Amino acid sequence: MSVTLTLDEVRDLATRCLMAAGADAANAAAVADTVTKAERDGCTSHGLFRIPGFCLSLASGKVDGAAEPTVETLAPGVLRVDNRRGLASRGLEVAMPPLIEAARAQGIAAAALVNSHHHSALWPEVEMIADAGLVGLALTASKSAVAPAGGTKPLFGTDPMAFAWPRPDGRPPLVFDQASSALARGEIMIAERDGHTLPEGIGVDSEGNPTTDPGAILKGAQLAFGGYKGAALALMIELLSGALIGQPTGFEATAQDNNDGGPVTNGELLIAMDPARFGDVDDAAARGEALFAEILKQEGTRLPSDRRFQNRARDPHPGTEVPDALMEKLQGLAGG
Ligand code: NDP
Repeated sequence: MSVTLTLDEVRDLATRCLMAAGADAANAAAVADTVTKAERDGCTSHGLFRIPGFCLSLASGKVDGAAEPTVETLAPGVLRVDNRRGLASRGLEVAMPPLIEAARAQGIAAAALVNSHHHSALWPEVEMIADAGLVGLALTASKSAVAPAGGTKPLFGTDPMAFAWPRPDGRPPLVFDQASSALARGEIMIAERDGHTLPEGIGVDSEGNPTTDPGAILKGAQLAFGGYKGAALALMIELLSGALIGQPTGFEATAQDNNDGGPVTNGELLIAMDPARFGDVDDAAARGEALFAEILKQEGTRLPSDRRFQNRARDPHPGTEVPDALMEKLQGLAGG
């Protein structure tokens, strides 16, 4: 059984839960905005489902709900945004204007978001970069969950990567946002909650045997998509969003975690590129559009993020279904 909430109700409920757990208005608003966008776009594994974990980490003191991120320029086009143990949404909000300004000035710029928690889905931040007419890339390493190629024990995070390409004539950007694991961990948790089995190739149990049982995979290890090729991408993400920017890689984040049930402390690397500085912006846009048109000529294709943009465009928006058990938990966290 479930209840249907409007997006305004989602935002309000998320804000009340976070503030009751100790977040200030700015941090609660930033996180509630990300959660509402996820529910709006039909990405429930990064919606209200995540709020109880955030509240656990606010309550344990691992996350500072009143964190005020600071921005430092380390080199031309290289920014370090210290999120001061806050949740990522607020740090990203602060990082975006100077990153966009630096990319426009330099042609390319990067922002390292450090001392941060829960980088959620990455499409909101790459969309913000594309909305400014820039190409965006975002990478983050998370807690150990995925076995290295050939291995059976968790080592890499599910390590997502997102990319956005701005499109002309008011079209939404071309965006993809994907884990380097065969399936995002949130989806496995939801399958366990709902009593569903999973396809083969998603993970192994704690003995290293292939399994379709989500609970056994959560106790065992997830697998990278595409075998060693996905594992190589996870390795790159761990290096760029961990080692390069002085933040924990997946296994370090796991070792340092206080296991309060909430997100680990880690970093995110954002890169923004200005097509106008690389050459002819109109030519770049036209070549991109020609490529997308060629893809779509083939039956069975669609562009990544089309599903999300279609969900977003629903008018009126049907709201979002929240399972009764989650709703009860959230109402308890919000104080009734
Ligand atoms: P999916 O496998 O559901 O989708 C990955 C991408 O592929 C999306 O952009 C999706 O677009 C696109 N896509 C799906 N099907 C097709 C198709 N048939 N043709 C073209 N494109 C397609 O995502 P994941 O499960 O890998 O990740 C889910 C989310 O979890 C992501 O937002 C990711 O950032 C997040 N995540 C966050 C982590 C963290 O530590 N912060 C860790 C791991 C994941 P569309 O959305 O339109 O379907």
